[in-house]
Amino acid sequence: MFKQLTEAQLDPILSLSIAYREDERENKMDLGIGVYRNSQGETPIMQAVQQAQQHVLETQTTKGYVGLAGNEVFNQSMMDLLLADTSAYTRAAAIQTPGASGALRMLADLMCIAQPDTTVWISNPSYVNHKPVMEAAGLKVRYYPYFNPTTKLVDSQAMLAELAKAGPKDVVLLHGCCHNPTGADISFSDWQAITELANKNGFMPFVDIAYLGFGDGLEQDAAGLKHMADNTEEMIIATSCSKNFGLYRERTGAAIVISDSLKVAQNAKGRILNLARSTYTMPPDHGAALVATILSDPALTQVWKQELNEMLGRLLSLRAGLTKAVRAQGSDEFDFIEQHKGMFSVTGLSPEQVGRLRDEFAIYAVGDGRINVAGMQEQQLDYLANALVTVSR
Ligand code: PMP
Repeated sequence: MFKQLTEAQLDPILSLSIAYREDERENKMDLGIGVYRNSQGETPIMQAVQQAQQHVLETQTTKGYVGLAGNEVFNQSMMDLLLADTSAYTRAAAIQTPGASGALRMLADLMCIAQPDTTVWISNPSYVNHKPVMEAAGLKVRYYPYFNPTTKLVDSQAMLAELAKAGPKDVVLLHGCCHNPTGADISFSDWQAITELANKNGFMPFVDIAYLGFGDGLEQDAAGLKHMADNTEEMIIATSCSKNFGLYRERTGAAIVISDSLKVAQNAKGRILNLARSTYTMPPDHGAALVATILSDPALTQVWKQELNEMLGRLLSLRAGLTKAVRAQGSDEFDFIEQHKGMFSVTGLSPEQVGRLRDEFAIYAVGDGRINVAGMQEQQLDYLANALVTVSR
């Protein structure tokens, strides 16, 4: 059966990590894979997570199955983080999923059974897995203009003009904050304009928020999403604790469905549970148990918020530091890096220039020119700035 299979393609970001590991140059920099790193280049377990882990270890008395919806305290906590103080809060239902990836797939499957001819509109460019997940579920995908390659910011005018064409059979997928890969976020007035379009033309917004707290802060990063949830009838959300709790391998995320009544939202949740049953049945427990422990305990929540703020502070200072270092080389070409949000920036470098970064400077970026800001070390910024200016000349 399997002999006829064509060869599997290795994910380009994963093959980049392998090449980086094998590189023996001392000054090498890994700006590829999307994990947060501290100033020692490590991805440590957060203090709040360690304390919660200790608590779970001491208090958990069984490894019996969790329910199909996972940890309901966790589910409630995700709604608190994303929807508190909105009208959507009382007409929403959440289920725990294996990461935001699991949420994306469950929500795609839900749309498929509710409205099989749905088209999902995705930003150009978007997170590499958005299109494959939507298509694997059987949905159609179409792109809307997003990134302006000249300014390296969002081309709001082109985006809104295209989204004005979306109708009742369409779903518009937005990044809640910290757009992956570009780092260019839509403004609050864009959120308002898209909300108005959704209400006028009948498309449903779908928000993927995987970096809450990595842009401007917990509250600020949810502001656009909250405005939209408050002012639309139906909306869906995929969210992740991989980055802001550092729980990557624990596969911790949630899917949220908002509708015009709690009854409809809960029924949609029930249908997702059916879908989950025939896919993975139940999500893993550990990560969600840790998040639920942290967010149910005010002291632990404070520890977590403090650590998250430190991570955010590091990202902001690296962005400012790199921009300054590039300026010191006599170029203002990379000023946009300071305006970008979150871990990533699309630099506008071509695949050839990205190749030169790797070959001449041992700097590993993704082929589309994306760099992971959290992969930088303060003491390497001058070296990186020189490399960027050299290859872009
Ligand atoms: N959405 C976006 C925009 C992402 O960047 C990622 C990957 N970090 C995910 C979803 C999937 O995240 P998770 O690890 O929670 O599955």
